[in-house]
Amino acid sequence: MKRCRFEFPYYDKKIQDYVQYECKIEEEDILESGFCIFHDENYLTDPVNREENERNVRRKLTKKIDQNLSDNEPLDCYAYHLPKFSVIRRRFNSPVNFSDSVFVGGAFLHDVQFAEYADFSGAKFGAKISLSKSKFTEKADFSGTKFMKEASFWGAQFLKEADFSRAKFEEEAGFNDVQFTEKADLSDVIFMKEANFWGAQFLKEANFWGAQFLIADFSRFQFIETPIFAEAQFTEKADFSGTNFKKGVSFKKSNCMRRGGKYKWK
Ligand SMILES: [Zn+2]
Repeated sequence: MKRCRFEFPYYDKKIQDYVQYECKIEEEDILESGFCIFHDENYLTDPVNREENERNVRRKLTKKIDQNLSDNEPLDCYAYHLPKFSVIRRRFNSPVNFSDSVFVGGAFLHDVQFAEYADFSGAKFGAKISLSKSKFTEKADFSGTKFMKEASFWGAQFLKEADFSRAKFEEEAGFNDVQFTEKADLSDVIFMKEANFWGAQFLKEANFWGAQFLIADFSRFQFIETPIFAEAQFTEKADFSGTNFKKGVSFKKSNCMRRGGKYKWK
């Protein structure tokens, strides 16, 4: 039987070791290139059949998601190339793996529940992404993820660790009304445009160590624990007016205080 030739030494975070990733996509979805419709990096950008190919991948992805949802099987979309798609008001009871995937089209995942580990690490969002009102019951991993267009997490809830370390937001990032119940790791994150945290809540450790901001709005904010902004860089504006640092704050080696004139402090 023909099988996709995509193979990759994949770091399995559960067993903490490299394993050889093998694609299990079946015959009918294997292209002449030897890759399946999800792993062939040229399939969605084919100048002649682009729309038809997008429709095909979207249909097969929807089928795969529906199947995994009904079987409660882990959803494996490792290093997939994905067209515009949406998932609304669904609940994934098993781990979801979109790590190293390339979202060629926009992804609209509204009011989705991730009951197990949600892995988006190293993914590239080439178009707008929305995870508004989504709920992450277990760890949400966006480490090293690249958001090339607007990203909205409006009203999302992270009930366990949220890892955005080394993520890069090239356009506006919206974390309005987001609740981080456990540790939020935003160390070395890069916000190239506005980062909006208006109404967000950090109930445990908020780590912005080495983060880079252009415009950061943390006004009227309440940090329960001591947030870390050590070595963070603010290029244009940081608004911490009316912010309540209950247990203090660390701005060690950050340029926030040095350029105090530009910042608003209570
Ligand atoms: Zn494949």
